[in-house]
Amino acid sequence: MRTFLTALACTLLAAPLSAADLEPGHSTFGEKKYIEYIAGDLPLIISAPHGGRETPDDIPTRDQGVVQSDRNTQELARSIAAEIHARTGHHPHLVICRLHRQKLDCNREIAEAAAGDPIAEKAWAEYHAFLDQARATAIAASGNAFYIDLHGQNHADRRIELGYLHSHETLAKPEESLNDPAVARAGSLRRLAEKTTLSYVELLRGPRSLGALLEARGFPCTPSPERPVPNLPYFPGGYSVRRHVPADEPIAGVQIECNLTGLRDTEANRTRFATALVATLREYLAEHFALPLPQR
Ligand SMILES: [Zn+2]
Repeated sequence: MRTFLTALACTLLAAPLSAADLEPGHSTFGEKKYIEYIAGDLPLIISAPHGGRETPDDIPTRDQGVVQSDRNTQELARSIAAEIHARTGHHPHLVICRLHRQKLDCNREIAEAAAGDPIAEKAWAEYHAFLDQARATAIAASGNAFYIDLHGQNHADRRIELGYLHSHETLAKPEESLNDPAVARAGSLRRLAEKTTLSYVELLRGPRSLGALLEARGFPCTPSPERPVPNLPYFPGGYSVRRHVPADEPIAGVQIECNLTGLRDTEANRTRFATALVATLREYLAEHFALPLPQR
């Protein structure tokens, strides 16, 4: 299925990407500029599927599925990319859907995503083809890559939800069950779990977990030492993390679902979070994935 979709996506890209398109830090676009890809030169890939604002008349408004956007997540993704560049002198790969979710949902299978509209289907294919390109470039250059699918939610428990493709039900199981290797193999950190010295439970929510490192910088998370088992509702990670963290490639990833207040509501807070996230990634990827980020 994945091979078929990848082939479909590549076929539907307007043209093969040129060397200029792939120059780090430069924006390239799909045919109607609904999808933007800023190529990178780091093994980091960030996507923002639900922060688009464009509502063109040539795509019908979706009447099935979720149509609310994740407010300011496009700007948050750009802030994170800018902070990465400021700290490392290099660029992450960044893929942005500029269409409002009323028109396209890039974090769903194509049928629900585009509701059968050919222009929306084309944009969906471009979005995933750019992510395929980013993944191939990052892995070829560094041997490993890390992917963040960036979202926003407004759940009552105001903390960042880290989605590793484990349901709330799985995360609520006893520690010995979570340390069964089959659990790690089903999650988006499987490659990282092979490299780290931590047990899988520690990697999910121990004192050196992604959640712990973000909490230490003032951003409450789950799973984490403070909230090892998420409250419901909780987003465990969706289509894009499943598709772009395939089991047979050296890539790990996470769906990051950001709360609004104090994080993505103002430019100052987005910058504050970007600073915390980049410092966290530097620590986390070096410690657990042998993937040190360059120092500027
Ligand atoms: Zn979302």
